[in-house]
Amino acid sequence: MIDTDGARVWSVPMRTRFRGIDVRDGVLVQGPAGWGEFSPFWDYDVPESRRWWAAAVEAACAGWPAPLRDTVPVNVTVPAVDPDRAHAIVTASGCRTAKVKVAEPGQTSVDDVARVEAVRDALGPDGAIRVDANAAWDVDTAATRIRELDRVGLEYVEQPVASLAELAALRRRVDVRIAADEVVRRSADPLRVDLREAADVVVLKVQPLGGVRAALEVAGAHGLPCVVSSALESSVGIAAGVALAAALPELPFACGLATVALLDGDVTSDPLVPVDGALPVRAVTPDRLADVAAGPEVEARWRARLDAVRG
Ligand SMILES: [Mg+2]
Repeated sequence: MIDTDGARVWSVPMRTRFRGIDVRDGVLVQGPAGWGEFSPFWDYDVPESRRWWAAAVEAACAGWPAPLRDTVPVNVTVPAVDPDRAHAIVTASGCRTAKVKVAEPGQTSVDDVARVEAVRDALGPDGAIRVDANAAWDVDTAATRIRELDRVGLEYVEQPVASLAELAALRRRVDVRIAADEVVRRSADPLRVDLREAADVVVLKVQPLGGVRAALEVAGAHGLPCVVSSALESSVGIAAGVALAAALPELPFACGLATVALLDGDVTSDPLVPVDGALPVRAVTPDRLADVAAGPEVEARWRARLDAVRG
């Protein structure tokens, strides 16, 4: 059983605004199998957050299936920053794959092209570039933008448009692979989303899908290549993503799990950051909880949220 009285609320600033947030916060809980993270973004309501809680319970009480590999290749994540900064982030990462945020509100297609070109320059011709539009475009805009961005060579484009029907319509018009993220993760039933005409790749995230085992079921149901990505967790939550990536029968693409570097602080003194473009499969001990403890107001909000999802 999980002792939620012993739950620890953490909060750290983002180094760069990402996904519209400047601060990342969440709860860690401990059980017989170890630590679990519960950190739904604040735009997830109580019913949606129940899957996030199930992931924390699995980590704390059951642990994860046995790994099939020791390390997991990862991409560097490039926020909607200027080209010089994008170049520097990619060069410093040591990763051979970059995921680049595009279609940021307030920016233009010129900004996106410049950022992606800088990333190509930093990676060289052998690196892989994927972009994520977070469902920002309509089909016509997506078709135009993807053709522009693909001049540097794209591995895939993640959730360029919002709905399944739009993804399918777009997929008939562009040559670049389409990856489905929000359309699976925010679905009431991720097992039954019909991706056959709509996507070439599925993005799996442990917390929104309800745990490592639940995400493995989603992978099995769709039968498409999978990429495991984070929900901007602390290293404790990232360890669950690594466990999922390590347990997938096939792992043809680098995973989006190198996101601890986007946070200005972590719950552990030994964070899950990539070495030579890969993360090790290992447990994480949160030994810095006192250093990243949330203030009383944030603490109270999370305790209310915990009570709501468990109620
Ligand atoms: Mg995404």
